[in-house]
Amino acid sequence: MINIAIDGPAGAGKSSIAKAAAAQLGFIYVDTGALYRSAALYALSNGLDEQSLIDSLDKVDIKLEYQQGTQHVILNGEDVSQQIRTPEVSMNASRFSAIPEVREFLFDLQQRIARENNIIMDGRDIGTVVLPNADLKVFLTASAEERANRRFREMTDSTVTYEQVLEDIKQRDYNDMNRKTAPLKQAEDAVLLDTTEMTMEQVIDKLTSMIKEVMDK
Ligand code: C5P
Repeated sequence: MINIAIDGPAGAGKSSIAKAAAAQLGFIYVDTGALYRSAALYALSNGLDEQSLIDSLDKVDIKLEYQQGTQHVILNGEDVSQQIRTPEVSMNASRFSAIPEVREFLFDLQQRIARENNIIMDGRDIGTVVLPNADLKVFLTASAEERANRRFREMTDSTVTYEQVLEDIKQRDYNDMNRKTAPLKQAEDAVLLDTTEMTMEQVIDKLTSMIKEVMDK
């Protein structure tokens, strides 16, 4: 199986780019952020703090399903793919993902999917922790301002300002890079791709050609 790891900060375009490349190449795209978001949604819905989430993990069942190539995340039998996309869940995913027990809980699920399929998996610790032997590792980034710009343009909620989006991105970068367990960082053998000055098409082309090179080897 071919495993491609894509890591990078929030808003770098990982999911759009990985999704498009996976569709072109017939790979499965695995969005691991959705797993952390689902754990956070469970905690929020049940009013849990860090310790009570750890104590409740045996009641949490998270599965990934693929319908026409699109990932759906199922939390205790319910499709929560839409519900996990709010700014509140984003911030809490970043908070609860710092818990080692939560990361361990989601680790096997991620490794199993990678063992059984050709995948492009995106997250924060895929190249460093989850798939250290990935066939290709890419660290995708862009300036915080450019990432906030892209996020802001996609937003439909007119009550949120650009400054708030930028602030959220900076806070999540800080949380993700400074946690003790599996912090966001570039793996030593990852290719750095700074997309600040690139269009989405350029990034997708670059990624697919890097993957094709790996497949030809
Ligand atoms: O990628 P996304 O923005 O959906 O991820 C939400 C949060 O989940 C991130 O801010 C990060 O804290 C956490 N995450 C993680 N490890 C991953 C993927 C996501 O800690 N592999």
